[in-house]
Amino acid sequence: MTVNGDVSFWYREPGLPTPRPALAGSVEADVCIVGAGFTGLWTAYYLKKADPGLDIAVVERRFAGFGASGRNGGWLTAALAGSPRRFAETHGRPGVQALQQAMNATIDEVIGVAAAEGIDADIVKGGILRVAHVPSQVPRLREGVDSARAWGDEDVELLDAAQTRKRIGIPAALGASFNPHCARIQPAKLVQGLARVVEELGVRIYESTPVTEIVPHEARTPSGTVRAKYVLRATEGFTAGLNGERRTWLPMNSSLIVTERLPEAVWDEIGWEGRELLGDLSHTYIYAQRTADDRIAIGGRGVPYLFGSRTDVDGRTHAATVRALRQALVRLFPMLRDVAIEHSWCGVLGVPRDWCSTAVVDQRTGLGWAGGYVGHGVATTNLAGRTLRDLVLGADTELTELPWVGREVRRWEPEPLRWIGVRAMYAAYRVADRVEIARGRPATSLIARAADLVARRN
Ligand SMILES: Cc1cc2nc3c(=O)[nH]c(=O)nc-3n(C[C@H](O)[C@H](O)[C@H](O)COP(=O)(O)OP(=O)(O)OC[C@H]3O[C@@H](n4cnc5c(N)ncnc54)[C@H](O)[C@@H]3O)c2cc1C
Repeated sequence: MTVNGDVSFWYREPGLPTPRPALAGSVEADVCIVGAGFTGLWTAYYLKKADPGLDIAVVERRFAGFGASGRNGGWLTAALAGSPRRFAETHGRPGVQALQQAMNATIDEVIGVAAAEGIDADIVKGGILRVAHVPSQVPRLREGVDSARAWGDEDVELLDAAQTRKRIGIPAALGASFNPHCARIQPAKLVQGLARVVEELGVRIYESTPVTEIVPHEARTPSGTVRAKYVLRATEGFTAGLNGERRTWLPMNSSLIVTERLPEAVWDEIGWEGRELLGDLSHTYIYAQRTADDRIAIGGRGVPYLFGSRTDVDGRTHAATVRALRQALVRLFPMLRDVAIEHSWCGVLGVPRDWCSTAVVDQRTGLGWAGGYVGHGVATTNLAGRTLRDLVLGADTELTELPWVGREVRRWEPEPLRWIGVRAMYAAYRVADRVEIARGRPATSLIARAADLVARRN
């Protein structure tokens, strides 16, 4: 039987944690961080390492790693969390290239800290393969490689069908791009390990404590207020739940399924010895990994957005999404047509109106935030942590010069426009994928091009 929800499959082995004590009455701190996902915990980590004397309080509604950080696909990827073209509008091509270099270096930074702090998160730096498996995806694959190189990612390679299938036995593969700057992780192990490490450094973490409102120098909760010189918001996909933030970032849903353990005979057929992350080039793209215990975890968009910016209940996802992900899995790996799916779940990530992430600290009000990583948050949160550290400490560094720092973004449209727009966009992408599979021609469907234009994502 498929378990649905329970936060995510990644908690099955360690078990869901017993929450730390909640806030009981008002307290003071130098820095208050709202949200104990990767953004909040990396920020606490780097601040405390830079200045051990800082008094830092993290306030978390449920438990550290309850959000996307404990539910994601485990792609520690250097992909930019935003459109290079848009970042270049303010910082030019050199600014985007600097951001890309910083992201590439972030992969090794995360791996290095995990090793130094004794966090075992099943990390394997095997790179990432994005596979074209329908003729219309081949030109997009080439465009993607050309564009990555043009924006400074020189290390991306183009593989032909035979080279691709040698790495992963996808019978329909027509080619792939390979980027070495990517590692597989087990997200819950990384986020839980990080929470332990920051606590050992002396950071206070209050769990089961919802913040209702953030105002300058205060994070307000039903059980008391945390007063601090700086209050940093690290709530990504849940941000709309805070007073005054309903239209800041759209909570975009993403879902995953995980198979049973696959036997040796199946792995002999599939290969995948390098544990590369696996993605494709469909408009409603999928993301997958071979897990440390030899399953396949595969994710995709599912129901993209719930009216009024609602979020799921403890990761419970829709039956139709589970069916669609299973179909996507079998399309890539027909030998898995009878495989059992053991777990399904979902979560939310934050999407700003211009699809570009931001990291901000306002020295006047002491308010700051980072997020809106548009599905590329696992590594970017680490860069965010180091960037918020420098901004809080008032240091002008290479990180504070990067194009995503201090950006202003307009808000999302009010409902029902928000709901209609997002649902229509993803419906169009789904139709475009179906049309491209049915036609088998090497051209991107006009429906997808129109949806790209309306969404203004690139
Ligand atoms: C299903 C899924 C798959 C994904 N796959 C990938 C991937 O493979 N690679 C990748 O790069 N990115 C991926 N992402 C995105 C990535 O996981 C996120 O961008 C990243 O984890 C965000 O980290 P965060 O700390 O900012 O937010 P979160 O991890 O969501 O943490 C926010 C925390 O704030 C808490 N919180 C919320 N509201 C309040 C409140 N009012 N008061 C107190 N606390 C509050 C929440 O409980 C939560 O613990 C995925 C996202 C999802 C949902």
